[in-house]
Amino acid sequence: MTIGNILSRTRNKASKHATVLLALLPVPPKMLGVAARDARQRQVNNEILCDLMEAIFAPIVALKNSGLEVECADGKVRLCFPRLSAWIADHLENVTLHGIQQNQCAVCEVRPEQLGSYLGRSAAKRDYRKYEHLFNKFSDNNQQAGKELTDRGFKLLPSVFWGLPNIQQSDLPKPDILHVVYLGIFETHLMKWIIGFLKKFKRLQSFDAIWKSLAVYPGYSAPNKEYSRISQWTGKEMRNLVKVILPCFAASLRRPSAVERPIFAKALTCVRSIVDFTLMSQYKSHTDATIQYLEQYLKAFHDHKDVFKEYRKDKSTMRKVREVTARIRGENSEVLNQQRLSGATAAKRRRIADEQRRDLDGIVADIYDEDVDFNFVKIHLLSHFGDHVRRFGNIQMYSTESGETSHKTMIKEGYRRSNRNDASHQILRTYARLDSFKIHEMNVEADITRPIEDELHDKRHKRQVGSVTRQPIGFTSTVETISELNSTLRNLPDLLHDYYRRKSSIGCEVDMDSVKQFPVEICRLLRVPIENFQDVREVTWHLLRCTGTQHWRSTGRSRNDWVWVDSGNRNIYGALKGFYPARLVSIMKVRNSKTGLVDRLVLIDRLYVENSGKLSDITGLVTVTLGTAKGPTGTTEIVVGIKRIMGMAHLIPETAEVDNKRWYVNNRIDLETFNRIY
Ligand SMILES: [Zn+2]
Repeated sequence: MTIGNILSRTRNKASKHATVLLALLPVPPKMLGVAARDARQRQVNNEILCDLMEAIFAPIVALKNSGLEVECADGKVRLCFPRLSAWIADHLENVTLHGIQQNQCAVCEVRPEQLGSYLGRSAAKRDYRKYEHLFNKFSDNNQQAGKELTDRGFKLLPSVFWGLPNIQQSDLPKPDILHVVYLGIFETHLMKWIIGFLKKFKRLQSFDAIWKSLAVYPGYSAPNKEYSRISQWTGKEMRNLVKVILPCFAASLRRPSAVERPIFAKALTCVRSIVDFTLMSQYKSHTDATIQYLEQYLKAFHDHKDVFKEYRKDKSTMRKVREVTARIRGENSEVLNQQRLSGATAAKRRRIADEQRRDLDGIVADIYDEDVDFNFVKIHLLSHFGDHVRRFGNIQMYSTESGETSHKTMIKEGYRRSNRNDASHQILRTYARLDSFKIHEMNVEADITRPIEDELHDKRHKRQVGSVTRQPIGFTSTVETISELNSTLRNLPDLLHDYYRRKSSIGCEVDMDSVKQFPVEICRLLRVPIENFQDVREVTWHLLRCTGTQHWRSTGRSRNDWVWVDSGNRNIYGALKGFYPARLVSIMKVRNSKTGLVDRLVLIDRLYVENSGKLSDITGLVTVTLGTAKGPTGTTEIVVGIKRIMGMAHLIPETAEVDNKRWYVNNRIDLETFNRIY
């Protein structure tokens, strides 16, 4: 149990102990010889649940009229009336709590056969007060009332929430990104469709290869094996998957044939829409425009999902398709044989065969249309997201994730410490003890007086270079010596000269010979602070590595990260808004002997932004290639100050080959990038 008044930023951190472990709900014993779905067993389960909830809710019910005086953090005493406002649970738990059938939505009265369709307006909200009324009538032997309830998917058992004051029962279930989107849509369904799709078009191998070659990014750990070799997925892995699936899918569908082109476009639009929906549903603050986008993405997903229809087939449909195909193929070949016997030309026979193939495709598509649908609850639950944001604010605040993580400390740890004999009491006691110690600790901590710091100012760090490579003692490397020793820095004197020429004002130019004598130190790390999206209080440090030709840790490969470089002109590079991606070649500190100042510089290799940075209509992505435009020094390399490095870029190669020359700019990698590049 937790309190809605606590800021969700605090509440959702397990370390803040804002959630109290209240009770462990038992699994009612199974009656011998009675199936779980039997009416008697169901009734017993429900009675146990109702009795338990009554005991749990008793303190809230008791305060219904009198309220409770609460000493608040600001020192004031307020009269408070606690009320149950949300119950964060997965769909199956909601089904039990609200007493509805599994194929029903706990919020609205949508028909099971409409779960998979996009409804402009959602169905009527469930009126549980009315159900209570009808149920009382039914208990008095009114069969009509019972029928009305069953029609609405209600199980004809008293509900656990009916005794509670001031609640709106249909508002208790909250949208849940983890269970509904990541696990409910992506893991259980969409990824299976995508893999089926890739298999059919023989692209799974290239998808796997690209999947394995992905680069790391802050908040994203790259997979270390092929997609098809992973059998178990966690919520975190699914979260990572959503960040990269669109460009990976787009890359593996590159260069379609004329026949494939429209199908691929449809599949990509479908995947893009649901990925964008997922990302936008994680925004911490919304405007009318973002909610509209959310609804548009959902509609586009529904409009294009039919392309995956045949990968949703069940066994009986597959059998039907097989039988029909075999029968028609037999008939067709007979027709062709007769044509041959009657002396038809090869061209004519080919024409007939083509026609037959088209007919067969049409017949199979008709079977899928008839037999396959998208009517599962979680696809419907997405349609409540927009409405929820309008009424209650961002979706993340009702996350089940903190609950899932605390499961470990609260329950597993308690069980481990118990003597396994009637463990539930010991679990509750263990956690209560740990919890009160922790809260005491936090209270003491809060009481210690500290100088008041300007948090914002404190967090606004500057870019830093680090991890300086060691030099032999007594040896100072200069621009000249380093460019001779290190083949990747061949052009350094020219590039540096060019840099100082661009930077200096007229009259105090530095000539080439003095640039060559500037002392230089090579670094392997650049730290760039990036303000978190919609939360300026926090920064994420992007650690940009550049090992030159040396290997990075035990990977056996060198690491030269992709970075965003600010060109200084917001109006170029289209959707990239003045930023262009480049590869780090070197990070260095150069002492300008003329001025005595140390300049922190990076040598980068620019990429060429295709189509002036216009997003592709189909994939919604920008592509970049190895640069061809020659700079003044005849290369695509350039030296810039570290201030122009705007963080790490996530690029996904078009092929996994070593000589790949084209990349997709992955703007779905985090919310900040997603919001900037569109
Ligand atoms: Zn609904």
